[in-house]
Amino acid sequence: MTGFLRKGDAGYDEARTVWNAMIDRRPAVVARCATTEDVVAAVRFGRTQGLEIAVRCGGHNIAGLAVPEDGLMIDLTPMNAVRVDPATRRAWVEGGAMLGELDKASQEYGLATTAGNVSHTGVGGLTLGGGMGWLARRFGLSCDNVLSFELVTADGSVVRASADENAELYWGLRGGGGNFGVVTMFEFQLHQVGTRALTAEFSYPVSAGLDVLRGWRDLNVEAPRDATFTAFVDGTQVVVGYVWVGEGGYDLVPAFRKLGPVQNELVDETTYLQLQTREDNVQGHRFRRYWKGHYFDVLPDEAISAMLDNPGVPASLQAYGGAIADVPADATAFSRRDTLFEMVTASRWESPAEDEERITRLRGYAATLAPYASGAYVNTLNEDPINRAFPPATLERLIALKTAYDPENVFHLNQNIKPHAA
Ligand SMILES: Cc1cc2nc3c(=O)[nH]c(=O)nc-3n(C[C@H](O)[C@H](O)[C@H](O)COP(=O)(O)OP(=O)(O)OC[C@H]3O[C@@H](n4cnc5c(N)ncnc54)[C@H](O)[C@@H]3O)c2cc1C
Repeated sequence: MTGFLRKGDAGYDEARTVWNAMIDRRPAVVARCATTEDVVAAVRFGRTQGLEIAVRCGGHNIAGLAVPEDGLMIDLTPMNAVRVDPATRRAWVEGGAMLGELDKASQEYGLATTAGNVSHTGVGGLTLGGGMGWLARRFGLSCDNVLSFELVTADGSVVRASADENAELYWGLRGGGGNFGVVTMFEFQLHQVGTRALTAEFSYPVSAGLDVLRGWRDLNVEAPRDATFTAFVDGTQVVVGYVWVGEGGYDLVPAFRKLGPVQNELVDETTYLQLQTREDNVQGHRFRRYWKGHYFDVLPDEAISAMLDNPGVPASLQAYGGAIADVPADATAFSRRDTLFEMVTASRWESPAEDEERITRLRGYAATLAPYASGAYVNTLNEDPINRAFPPATLERLIALKTAYDPENVFHLNQNIKPHAA
């Protein structure tokens, strides 16, 4: 253990500060864990002291679930080692590592696995909820690339889960979030992807928006798996494009130029590591944040029109499909694999005086689009009910697993699956 921190200790405020500056909670104790044994000790300590337990990796959960008021925060950030074996294309990643650490260690060998778009996001929370990134259409979600997990369960045991060991737990950890224990090690499958990427963005006047977005949606159906389509709409401009990982990627450019009257075009070759960090500053810490998310399994014209009709409210869309949809629905807890696009509407600001207006606006916007949505990504759920992420049969199976591994709901500061009452 690198130490227990309490109010007033050096490092305490840094440890309790998370990505969303709206979160200002004060844990009674922060356990800075450096090893699996530290995590076992922390879980046992929290339970014997009757403290509410939360688990922190990257601290990017929008609702700040990693920080308990007056409870025990199990801070995994000292556990950030990543070991890569290029021969077997495997990475062993400790439970507190950030995506940037995984990417950097893997790219030494031209390898990578699916990781999110911002390098200071935690491997832990992202992977346990699914993990969407620029490689997902080729290789599946981050969770689809986990070969094994090591975790500390609610009774302080150290357990492994893989296809051959505790297979039901392995199922649940791939999408079921932090419900089943504290993951101390992820073993990932890596892929040879090289070090190159291409980003392409085309902007059009909003007056052409409906045609552009319809064309973009239809083009996406035939898009190669190397391309992940993106769109940004805020009522004043429409920007569509794609991210391509690997060599090539230019062949799609003419089709985008034909979608409408292009005002600006930005086609950029970059390295994979630059791609993975290009949003780090925009998505930096320090700001107050709020977001709402939807999945769309079809994107009807009415939904597109609703996005265009809301000046000043931004919507970012990213395409799913490809290898994500290849995985059978019952193979992992992660659900809604038939998603065509994920949409997030997000806001950042600095003054608490703006909180209410900002939040109300995004809630209203999300409500306008809700009739067209097919669910939501568990890692974007904010105050939304858990059944937006999981269909009833998956939820039942998750509840049974939770009841087996954490009957007292020790790990409840997460996208919580409530166990059956004892
Ligand atoms: C700037 C930004 C960019 C993002 N980009 C993407 C993206 O590209 N793709 C994508 O899929 N998602 C993305 N997300 C969403 C992201 O997946 C979630 O916010 C996720 O919760 C972040 O995990 P974390 O470890 O950083 O957060 P934390 O707040 O530290 O953890 C969130 C929860 O995860 C659980 N948890 C974390 N680590 C462990 C562990 N080792 N063992 C057990 N439980 C654990 C805990 O329940 C914890 O409450 C992004 C979020 C942000 C803020």
